[in-house]
Amino acid sequence: MGVKRETITLVGAGLAGSLLAVFLARRGFRVEVYEKRPDIRRVSTGAGKAGRSINLAMSARGLHALQQVGLKDEVLGMAIPMAGRLIHPVKGERVLQPYGQRDEEVIYSVSRGELNRVLLSAAERQDGVRLHFNARCTGVEFRTGVLYVRDDATNHVHSLRPKRIIGVDGSASAIRTAMMNVGRFDLSQQYLTHGYKELTIPAGTNGAYRMEPNALHIWPRGLYMLIALPNLDGSFTCTLFFPHEGDYSFASLLDPRQILDFFKSQFPDAAALMPDLTTLYLDNPTGSLVTLKCFPWHYRDRVLLLGDAAHAIVPFFGQGMNCAFEDCTVLDECIEAYWPDWETVFESFGRRRKEDTDAIADMALANYVEMRDQVSDPGFQLRQKVGFLLERKFPDLYIPRYSMVSFHRFPYSEALRSGEIQDGILREICDSISAEEQVDWDLAERLVSERLGT
Ligand SMILES: Cc1cc2nc3c(=O)[nH]c(=O)nc-3n(C[C@H](O)[C@H](O)[C@H](O)COP(=O)(O)OP(=O)(O)OC[C@H]3O[C@@H](n4cnc5c(N)ncnc54)[C@H](O)[C@@H]3O)c2cc1C
Repeated sequence: MGVKRETITLVGAGLAGSLLAVFLARRGFRVEVYEKRPDIRRVSTGAGKAGRSINLAMSARGLHALQQVGLKDEVLGMAIPMAGRLIHPVKGERVLQPYGQRDEEVIYSVSRGELNRVLLSAAERQDGVRLHFNARCTGVEFRTGVLYVRDDATNHVHSLRPKRIIGVDGSASAIRTAMMNVGRFDLSQQYLTHGYKELTIPAGTNGAYRMEPNALHIWPRGLYMLIALPNLDGSFTCTLFFPHEGDYSFASLLDPRQILDFFKSQFPDAAALMPDLTTLYLDNPTGSLVTLKCFPWHYRDRVLLLGDAAHAIVPFFGQGMNCAFEDCTVLDECIEAYWPDWETVFESFGRRRKEDTDAIADMALANYVEMRDQVSDPGFQLRQKVGFLLERKFPDLYIPRYSMVSFHRFPYSEALRSGEIQDGILREICDSISAEEQVDWDLAERLVSERLGT
């Protein structure tokens, strides 16, 4: 793609930063990457201890970005397909709610650490990429363009003068914090009253899975829930999403006996598979969940925010990383269209993404209620089945919202708008029936063509 020889400085070599380095190098830029952590390929990081998810759900948007830089097959080789949600009630039969209705409509469980390692190695293989570890950005002076980076090994602070900086330093971004000093910068953050804690179901004998591996397991309990995603070694990483405060909360559930009793009564089958439950519960940190929106994402032609630094969302749609990877795709398209006019590259990137990242932030919040509560409701289950019937009957007009987000790359804002219309249609069709065989197809056809037809 031609040698451009300009240098772009990235702050953060997490999921988005390491992938973005690959995209930029393939366009011929030199890339200097400053990452505060040590090189995770050489040291064990204990992702769980750090309070970040050990595995993640990857879907179409993430896979598309990986495909563009030739990494899709490598990542799929270390991913486990999940065909649906496997619902665990307190008593009674488990039910699989498929995510889609075609064989390829699955999402994938991938290890955060392994994925980051693959992306770092891919970045390092590119000409012109240099990775600096233990290099923590401590601030930026926007007007003078000075970037301060502290070497965590020596505590020495270097003053750099990069021409162009991209802040891919996650939800607690130092670059974003510095941006607040330049004026007319909007920022809102909303913490959930619920937090999360990671636990483990270890593998059985010879690495055997002790539950169905090709599903995302959910124990929905109304005000809280437990989920589990499979790992390649036969274990499952479980996450308890639970209130921070209150009668049933992280603040009140502290005593080992109480913890065990609570799990045995609420998640009996999971508790039976977790020999280290109380130790893990007490040792592992409790994480917070935040939705963060800000704008503008750039300062002149010098600084841009991307990924969680620009738009952190709660994890209930499994889209934060997918969205950050889609950011890389869109920025690449903006560079193609407007480079070397960097201000227009940055400005058009923000203009194209803002409405969509706001939309996925809102859908992710709404999905928490769906996952912890509605999935066990017969009315919700009926609407989901009828949604699949509508997709089969009217494939050009009706694609369920979950599929639009996870199996296609429709703009998130379009998925949000269509989802609201679909919900209205499904409620009108389903409110007077109790099984999918009773659908009034004349009504269905009229509603779909009136509300979703062009
Ligand atoms: C519990 C949980 C579950 C999740 N599950 C999913 C899921 O299933 N699917 C999904 O798509 N998304 C999921 N996400 C969201 C996903 O983790 C994020 O959206 C994704 O990691 C964003 O990538 P990023 O590179 O922008 O930020 P990060 O991955 O956070 O990377 C930021 C990097 O910047 C570095 N850094 C930070 N500050 C500095 C500094 N001052 N100087 C230098 N370096 C710095 C950090 O060390 C890190 O390496 C989940 C998130 C959580 C919390």
